[in-house]
Amino acid sequence: MDAAEAGVARLRVLGERVTPARRAVLRVLAETADHLCVEDVLARADLIVPGLHRTTVYRAVETLGELGLVTHVHPAHGPVVYHLAAGLTGETHLHVRCRRCGAIQDVPADLLDEVADRLARTTGFQLQPDHAALTGVCRTCGDRPNAGTGAAIRPA
Ligand SMILES: [Zn+2]
Ligand SMILES: [Zn+2]
Ligand SMILES: [Zn+2]
Repeated sequence: MDAAEAGVARLRVLGERVTPARRAVLRVLAETADHLCVEDVLARADLIVPGLHRTTVYRAVETLGELGLVTHVHPAHGPVVYHLAAGLTGETHLHVRCRRCGAIQDVPADLLDEVADRLARTTGFQLQPDHAALTGVCRTCGDRPNAGTGAAIRPA
C-alpha cells in the first residue's frame, strides 16, 4: 500500500467520503517530492481526473488538511505548499527556502530540537518548526559570482 492508498484507507476509517477529488489530491501528493502550491495540485489533479471543478479540488485539499492527512508549510514569500502528512509517508522534515531563487529544500526534522527545548524551558513557548520554512540563501545562489551578499554568508 502506497501513501495515497494509505490516505484512502484512512478516509474510510474516519468515515469520510472517498471522492474522486480527494483521491486525486492524495495521488498527486504521494507521487511527488516537490513542494506544490494549491495551483500545482490543481493542475496535476486535473491530469488524473480531467474536468474536476477547481473549487472541488480546493475543498478536497482543505478537508484533507483538516483531517490531518495533508500538511502545509508557509514559505516567507509565495504560496503555501503541501505534503502528505507524516502519518501516511512515515517521514517528517523541516524546510528552508532560498530568498533568491525561491527553491524549497527539505532539512532534517530534528534540526531545531535543541532550540525548541531551550525555548520551552526558558519561556514555555512551544515551537512548531515544521509550520513555516526558514529563509536564507541556497548554496547555488550563494556560490554565484556577483550574487551580492552571497560571499558573506558562505560557510567558512
Ligand atoms: Zn498554516
Ligand atoms: Zn537559491
Ligand atoms: Zn518538504
